[in-house]
Amino acid sequence: MDAMNSLEEIAALVGRCTGCALWQGRTNAVPGEGPADAELMFIGEGPGFHEDRLGRPFVGQAGQFLEGLLSSIGTRRELVFIANMLKCRPPQNRDPLPAEITACSQYLDRQIELINPKLIITLGRFSMTRFFPGESISRVRGKVREKDGRFIYPVMHPAAALRRQEFRATIIEDFKAIPDILAGLGQAAPTVAAADLPEAPPPEQLNLF
Ligand code: URA
Ligand code: SF4
Repeated sequence: MDAMNSLEEIAALVGRCTGCALWQGRTNAVPGEGPADAELMFIGEGPGFHEDRLGRPFVGQAGQFLEGLLSSIGTRRELVFIANMLKCRPPQNRDPLPAEITACSQYLDRQIELINPKLIITLGRFSMTRFFPGESISRVRGKVREKDGRFIYPVMHPAAALRRQEFRATIIEDFKAIPDILAGLGQAAPTVAAADLPEAPPPEQLNLF
């Protein structure tokens, strides 16, 4: 197998991959994007129309919703890693086939190894199944679980929440728990504000107020 020593190498391999039939229909492969040292890694299903056009994950309606959810927990897409199970778009956005998931999993597996995120958040049924085969999303969502030494937090897919109003409150609630989960893992949530704020004053200055 070709070396996958960096996220860039993975992206290059994905871009010319012919490992399953989906390569034939792609405009652009969508390897995923974000900082190589991201603490949070989100895993969706596969590219849709807009993602295929742009070669970037979650840039359509579901992506807008995801950005709102990220903002609700004080972070933003540039600070997290966003990937998918499949790197090429299935025709008509149909469900991934087991053979496609198998053929593509080497890329996601290596991305997880390299990024080594503190917490993996699976979006929807297919990425949940990668970690918890045979489970149902309605049963496992909203609960963090350890699997093979990694912390996995399954939530519903943002597109499902867009389609069904009653799921919307659930995904919003499940997102709200993410900062506390991360804190419980010994790590603060990556906030937008932290980078923009001036440094805290030294302790003695606090007496002036
Ligand atoms: N849905 C997904 O699962 N992934 C994307 O990248 C976009 C929509
Ligand atoms: Fe290769 Fe994955 Fe694209 Fe299939 S979906 S061609 S395995 S990159």
